[in-house]
Amino acid sequence: MKLVKNLYYYPEKGMMDCNSYLIKDKLSILIDPGNSQFLPALLQDLQKDGIDPKTINIIMNTHLHGDHCWGNDDFKKASGAEILLHKIQKQLGDAATTQTSKFFGVPAVELSEDRVVDEDRLNLGETEIEFIPSPGHSPESICFYCRQEKVLICGDVIFNQNTGRVDLPGGSADQLKQSIERLSRLDVEYLLPGHMDIVTGADNVRRNFEFIKQNILGYL
Ligand SMILES: [Zn+2]
Ligand SMILES: [Zn+2]
Repeated sequence: MKLVKNLYYYPEKGMMDCNSYLIKDKLSILIDPGNSQFLPALLQDLQKDGIDPKTINIIMNTHLHGDHCWGNDDFKKASGAEILLHKIQKQLGDAATTQTSKFFGVPAVELSEDRVVDEDRLNLGETEIEFIPSPGHSPESICFYCRQEKVLICGDVIFNQNTGRVDLPGGSADQLKQSIERLSRLDVEYLLPGHMDIVTGADNVRRNFEFIKQNILGYL
């Protein structure tokens, strides 16, 4: 579903899946393909929007919990896109890929990136993404911020009226509080989390940050 201009939103399709986001530009990126089990439905959604997966160049993840990246390889097969892993995710990914999988008793997440990116931003053409390291839910969590478009793709760091859990391996309430404090200072019109509803409109986004600070962060 088209949200604005070149930004598309595909809501999660079931248990252990996540919201996926597409930015269409000279280079197009799919953020968080989700669970491969639901990939046919995601491909169908893309088709409904007139998007040929073969025009998507890059796959990235907000963090490396399976519900966000189990579908990476299958989406790569369907699209021919490259899987990029941020250097921070390469360095700190073990808590999510190995330890969290063990915690849930599921097979470890196998990563098969084509390239590791070391930069703090990625230029897609018209759109520039800034990578904002945001640990707390998981140490390798990165938010994707498009400053000009006021879009923040935040993974499981913040939700509509909630935050990501901090009790999984590598999680930290203190780090999550600091991450949310930093993110709350950004100018955001579209707050796009990894699960449940999105939050749109600068006032609603600001109110959501205030709600979380007042009602959630003190109890983590
Ligand atoms: Zn997660
Ligand atoms: Zn998740």
